[in-house]
Amino acid sequence: MLRIKKIKLIALGILAISSFLVWSAYFSLRPNDKLAVTFFDVGQGDSALIETPNQDKIIIDGGPDNSVLAKVGRYFSFYDRAVDVLIITHFDSDHLAGAVEIAKNYDIGLIIVNGKQCVSSLCGEFEKVIKQKNIKVAAAAKGQEIDFGQGAKINILLPENQTDDNAKKEGDNNSSVISLLSFGKDSFLFTGDAEDKEEMELINIWPNLTADVLKVGHHGSKNSTNQLFLEKINPKFSVISVGAKNTYGHPHIETIEALKKIGSEIFRTDLGGDIVMETEGKGIMIK
Ligand SMILES: [Zn+2]
Repeated sequence: MLRIKKIKLIALGILAISSFLVWSAYFSLRPNDKLAVTFFDVGQGDSALIETPNQDKIIIDGGPDNSVLAKVGRYFSFYDRAVDVLIITHFDSDHLAGAVEIAKNYDIGLIIVNGKQCVSSLCGEFEKVIKQKNIKVAAAAKGQEIDFGQGAKINILLPENQTDDNAKKEGDNNSSVISLLSFGKDSFLFTGDAEDKEEMELINIWPNLTADVLKVGHHGSKNSTNQLFLEKINPKFSVISVGAKNTYGHPHIETIEALKKIGSEIFRTDLGGDIVMETEGKGIMIK
């Protein structure tokens, strides 16, 4: 667990961004009708690529090492060096380390972090890359929306502004950036390593929230995927991003049982490799 403090690299002005701010990210290259989400098999960690109908690319987390670069290279065209938005759910190395490699190797339009401070050597490296390449960084806060055009958007659902002392004292998992990607009638909920506490906070703040796809919290740990949370979200599909034979015993049997109980179809990166889902906004296809 990394010790987290408020990130100095975020310009104060950016930190002050209102939670009602709407970021517009309209890019109009080669539009098509599909949105694709690829959950990369990066071993014990998280990394997902979103490609919108307007060809914007969003990456949520980078996994534990530079293996994500080969993954991204496979899905990007040879000349494509742009990532429009990079969301880092929190600063644990199994989410951040690969994101630092992406920041080094690609042109990033905007990085979104959870707004807490991080003092690890990895965060130091991250800060250095951001300064060198002058990348824009913003702290996530409930209520923000990024519009990618043609009805594709990401809403930041949590965290709330990280200004209270309790948030600073706590571990980072329950300060994960939780975001909802929606396109037409289809939606994907990304929860980082959120555990029961943040899951309950989520359904209390957003009581009508549901999602078609759940990126299961914390690699299928039994400390996440609370039954009540699951019944509310009611995902048709669940994705567990997890390394084969990991030392944590993830995914825990309790999580698998909870997902089965609500009839959610489970996809695991340790068993299936990269998981690609596509939608035209009228239902999700698994490729
Ligand atoms: Zn993790």
